[in-house]
Formats: sequence, structure tokens, C-alpha cells
Amino acid sequence: LPFSETFLKAIPSLKPMKLTVLGTSSMVPTKDRNVTGIYFEHKGEGMLLDCGEGTQRQMSIAGINRIKVKKVLITHWHGDHVSGLVGLIQTIGHGAEEPELTIYGPKGSKEVMYHLLRSCIFYNKVKINIEEIDTKTVKTVFENNDYQIQAINVQHSVPCVAYNFIIKDQYNINVAKAEKHGIKPGPKMGELQRKGKTTINGKTIKVEDVATLKKGKKVAFIFDTRICKPCFDIAEDADLLISESSFEQQHAERAAKVKHLSTKDAADIATQANVKQLLITHFSQRYKDTQTLKKEITDLFPNSLVAFDLMNVKL
Ligand SMILES: [Zn+2]
Ligand SMILES: [Zn+2]
Repeated sequence: LPFSETFLKAIPSLKPMKLTVLGTSSMVPTKDRNVTGIYFEHKGEGMLLDCGEGTQRQMSIAGINRIKVKKVLITHWHGDHVSGLVGLIQTIGHGAEEPELTIYGPKGSKEVMYHLLRSCIFYNKVKINIEEIDTKTVKTVFENNDYQIQAINVQHSVPCVAYNFIIKDQYNINVAKAEKHGIKPGPKMGELQRKGKTTINGKTIKVEDVATLKKGKKVAFIFDTRICKPCFDIAEDADLLISESSFEQQHAERAAKVKHLSTKDAADIATQANVKQLLITHFSQRYKDTQTLKKEITDLFPNSLVAFDLMNVKL
């Protein structure tokens, strides 16, 4: 083969997306469960969904380089979802070369961030961009050639946003086919990947001629909400839905009252939104283990998983 294994590994698009659940507890950390934080990475860019207290430590235990984080998607400003943010900003400020962070969050995020950055004494070296989200329909809040982030307001006791992360369809170059067309690693290959075509000896080669289509992926994140239409909208056709499921069915009434989801709610969303796989998390500390949650969720939606701290999910 003209292209070495090393070269193929260097094409980032061939690596599957990895996601780590850093904490699975609601409200307070327990002996076995930290509060909410999910890390995922795409082509070397790190992203966090919420950053509860202790998230940095969990990242450290999981072997995640914290200064890779470039985007933080905040669902809402309840302490169990954001108390680790100041510490993370300090770490990024110390470690990254040109530290910059974009924080997405619900309406009011700019004001909360203003106070948060003054809540302890430190010199902030990180350039922080804050994007406030307030939308009743699914809206794209970030997009580049590779991926897209969408958001929608959900219904919790404070302004709260659900997100999805969509990796776009992409073409993976077929080694033998590319060689037949005279395309070697280098600028021509780069152009082919970037622009979808390149010219060799006056002949235009399209990416479809030498590549196979790799279907994109959609991951939806629903945290802290009562069951409502936006949950179904944001999760529609997701390959993976990561949903809070704070309560078992026996406490469903309580779930509705405090604007949270039960196992039944999470399963209903997954079923009606045509989700492929469901992962539940954000469990009330009243449940010492997750056996009942697991039984309930797999009865209701067979392709379900129950998250545990430091769980890795490959997509
Ligand atoms: Zn919560
Ligand atoms: Zn909350």
C-alpha cells in the first residue's frame, strides 16, 4: 500500500468520536457518583456539556487533557451543573497557549458569568465568548465544515437549554482508488477532503470517485426538564440520546412536580423521537444503586444503557 498505517491514522476523520460521562448524580455528589459533566472530542477539539463541581478531577482521572476544552455547553446555571467552571477556566488559563473558551448557555448567562468570574480572586487569562440561547424551535448555534451544534429551550425551574451535536456526513478516501487517480498524500489530498474535488493533470477528480461516504452522527443531550415538546424536537432521529432520568417510575409524580424526567419520560422521548440508543444519567441520590433504573429503562426502551461515572461511549 502506498499510504502507511500511520498516515491513515493521521486522518482525523477516521477516528470515531469518543465521549466520557464524568458524573451521573443529580444535585449532590455521592461516594460513587459525581455531578453532571460530559466530555467529548471531535478532531482534537474538546467540548464539555455542563461542568459540575469536581469535573476537573474526574477529567484528570479519565486521562483527559483539560486544556483541550474549547466549548462548554451549559444547560442551566443550577450549581450541580456549573460549580466546576471557575476552576476549569483557571486551569485553561494556566495551560493553554492562547486560551479561549466559548460558553453556550440559556438567557442570562452573560450576567451569571460576570459574577462567577468575580466570585474568587484570580487573574483571568482566558478570552471568554458567551453565547446566550433563547429559542422555542431547534436552532443551530454553531456550524463549521465538520459539525453542528443545535439548541432549544426546555422547561425546568430556571431557564434551561437542551443541545444536540451533529457530525456531518463525510467522505473517507479509499487508498487504492486515490492512487489510481494519481493522488498522493499532500496538498492535493487535502484539497480533495476540504473542497470535495481537486485537479490532477487537468482532470477534475471528485471526492465521490475515490472515497466512501461515512454517515454522520447525532448525539442529543437533554438535562433538567419536565417532559415537553422541545425534548422530542431536539432528539429527533438521534443516534444517541443522553437524557437525564432523575427518578424511577414510582417517583414519577415527584419528577413532574420538580420538573425532571423519570425513566418512563426518557423512554417515551427516545421512542417517539426515533432515537437509536438511549443513555440515562443524572440520578437522584436516593438510589444507592441503579438496578431498578436499569430494569425499568431496558423494559421500556430495549436499546438503553445506564451511565456510570467515567463511562466511555464510542460512536
Ligand atoms: Zn441537575
Ligand atoms: Zn437543575
